[in-house]
Amino acid sequence: MGKIIQLDDALSNKIAAGEVVERPASVVKELLENAIDAGSSVVEIELEEAGLASIRIIDNGEGISEDDVLNAFHRHATSKIKNESDLFRIRTLGFRGEALPSIASVSRLEMKTCHQDEGTRVILEGGKVEVMEKSSGRKGTDITVSDLFFNTPARLKYMKTIHTELGNITDVVNRLALAHPEVSFRLVHNERQLLKTTGNGDVRQVLAAIYGINIVKKMVPIKAESLDFKISGYAALPEVTRASRNYISTMINGRFIKNYPLVKAIQEGYHTLLPIGRYPIVLLNIEMDPLLVDVNVHPSKLEVRLSKENELNELVSATIKAAFKKEELIPSGYIPPRKTKPREEQTILDLDHIPAVEAKTYDFQIEQTKILDNDYQPEPPEIIQETEAENLSEHVDSIDDVHLFDLDEPRAEGIVQEESAPSLAETVAPSRVPPMYPIGQMHGTYIFAQNDRGLYIIDQHAAQERIKYEYFKEKVGKVESELQEMLLPLTFEYSSDEAIKINEYKHELEKVGVFLEEFGHNSFIARAHPQWFPKGDEQETIEEMIEQLLSMKRVDVKLLREEAAIMMSCKGSIKANRHLRNDEIQALLDELRQTNDPFTCPHGRPIIIHYSIYEMEKMFKRVM
Ligand code: ADP
Ligand code: MG
Repeated sequence: MGKIIQLDDALSNKIAAGEVVERPASVVKELLENAIDAGSSVVEIELEEAGLASIRIIDNGEGISEDDVLNAFHRHATSKIKNESDLFRIRTLGFRGEALPSIASVSRLEMKTCHQDEGTRVILEGGKVEVMEKSSGRKGTDITVSDLFFNTPARLKYMKTIHTELGNITDVVNRLALAHPEVSFRLVHNERQLLKTTGNGDVRQVLAAIYGINIVKKMVPIKAESLDFKISGYAALPEVTRASRNYISTMINGRFIKNYPLVKAIQEGYHTLLPIGRYPIVLLNIEMDPLLVDVNVHPSKLEVRLSKENELNELVSATIKAAFKKEELIPSGYIPPRKTKPREEQTILDLDHIPAVEAKTYDFQIEQTKILDNDYQPEPPEIIQETEAENLSEHVDSIDDVHLFDLDEPRAEGIVQEESAPSLAETVAPSRVPPMYPIGQMHGTYIFAQNDRGLYIIDQHAAQERIKYEYFKEKVGKVESELQEMLLPLTFEYSSDEAIKINEYKHELEKVGVFLEEFGHNSFIARAHPQWFPKGDEQETIEEMIEQLLSMKRVDVKLLREEAAIMMSCKGSIKANRHLRNDEIQALLDELRQTNDPFTCPHGRPIIIHYSIYEMEKMFKRVM
């Protein structure tokens, strides 16, 4: 009995309409989604010329029964929904019943499918059935789409370079593989294997296959649950950044989606931990009641409409923030010499023995560090070229990491320290920066300090900025603060349209401690300022706050406070080239240790860099 039914007009009209087949990557996406919906555990993708010559997808799913095969190529024919109420609780990736007919209409398509030992083979050209016959074969479906857009030359002309199209495809495959670690994917382009995932359900294996083992070593698990949402995934330490948002993958109920507010929420979780213009690598899985998410927004099914969006975004930001609050985020300054190891050795991903971040306890035993550091190879600082094909190059670089795993190997558990084993850090000191002792200062800019774990280099200006930023942020967030009257009021002059905006938002400036009075034509005066304003910089500070207000399209007090705190921290900090005595250094380090985020300045630049004793011994070739 056939399962695929033709949706009636009323229902099909409710489905976001439009062409799904824009480029090879959209064909790959639709066919892979079908394979996953069919319950496949192994899926193979073979491409010729970035899919423009041919795309072949072989799965081991349930297949299509003979009497359904032709139905599958009818518009709005699907086995996944039956009535309107199904549209609100979609659990499959597909539901529109449009992909196969759309793809078939712009290509030569051959499909061999086998459902319960009953095999069928069809060939369609430009959507017209040319061959339909019984065939034998193994369980599953094998589709080859050749000469894509052969009958729509205009569309063909629209294709970009092979490199770009292939980049789009790898992006699709990567994300589906991340969303479905229980499925083994193999992607081959012109006979070259680009990706292979194990399908053993461990998403870190997929992350390793895509981004490389060194990145996975630097990702921490995230996990949280609220009444409506369950989130999980992995977030890279702030020291690992990328030049685009492309490395943030968000999934809802196994579907990868694009949702800008969600990406913003992830970035908010990294607030002040990342340099400006740099983005994290994050995998975020969200489980929620399908009733709360509308996937029927756009034919590509990438966009979704979420109920309770704010609740979700807050949960995401808070969870990422909390994940890093537990981490010691001091990057290592050590750059290992590029070794040319035999391939075999390079490809072993022993996830059980990954030190996620360096030793995290304050147990300063060099012996232990040695063990942890043994196969620890931090990535050299990357020089990222912002090319369109960044994904692809990232991807192609990772070919070395492609390999098969021993499927009997026990599943690797969390890579960071188990919560049940509280680190010494928590019992000894609340700070995430270990105690360290000044050695001295260099060029009036860098502080050197040491402890049993090795050498630390601290950017004194960045450290001060962090301390001041947290101080001012606290102050500027308080509506009530003690005002300091000035003998001579400060005056400020603006153009008339600026003056109008200032007048309109004067009350917002009062919330950041600036009280302006109109004073003649387009001028304002301030008679007082909060006591904690940076001394001697009052005029400039107020001017900059007004500037910030004027530059905002929509005035947002939270943002105004934030920017004011960053600006004041810059002003209030010791400039480079200031000599510090050892007791001043010690005081600065102690203050830094008390901050909430002692690892980066408010602009996301690192404050501390660490060289472990073992790394130093390696550099001096005392150990090999
Ligand atoms: P949709 O996925 O939205 O239902 P499609 O046009 O992509 O629409 O596919 C039509 C139907 O063909 C599906 O509902 C499914 O029953 C069947 N189908 C397509 N691809 C496969 C596959 N690889 N394995 C099993 N069934 C498939
Ligand atoms: Mg489909």
